[in-house]
Amino acid sequence: MTRGMYMSILPLLRMGCPICQLKTGHCLTGQYLAWTTRRPDGTCWWCQYSIQSREHLFKTCPQWRSQQKTLWMTVLEVARKIPGPTRGRDRTNIAELLADERCSQAVLAFLANTDVGRASGPPVAREEDSEASEALEWEERGREERLAEMRAEDERGVGGVFF
Ligand SMILES: [Zn+2]
Repeated sequence: MTRGMYMSILPLLRMGCPICQLKTGHCLTGQYLAWTTRRPDGTCWWCQYSIQSREHLFKTCPQWRSQQKTLWMTVLEVARKIPGPTRGRDRTNIAELLADERCSQAVLAFLANTDVGRASGPPVAREEDSEASEALEWEERGREERLAEMRAEDERGVGGVFF
């Protein structure tokens, strides 16, 4: 993506348009957060897989297995009905999935039914001892609070901007 293209969708990114964020790789995946140095590595905080990429979240993370099944069944169905390339789970990468407008509704439904791209994961433990209590604390915090935190971070320009 060129800088011009990036700047043109920046307002949508700031508003939190989930498809824009995913297309630019700026949704809150472990891989992205590690790249922005907000997390020490790209490990999936749901299943501990080594790289929490878009491919991982949309296809293989066990946390979202049933939602992935629904997504790919819907995508296959819609691609059969509307002319264009077939969209099987094994032969479609996530960039292709997100670029295919026929699949937008299924992608949005997947995002709505999962926490993918919503939260930046549990706080990174500073000491090994505090890991368990911090994870518990994270569970107890409301989703609203986490969302408010994300928005505040975006307003400060921490999320989704190249520097
Ligand atoms: Zn995972």
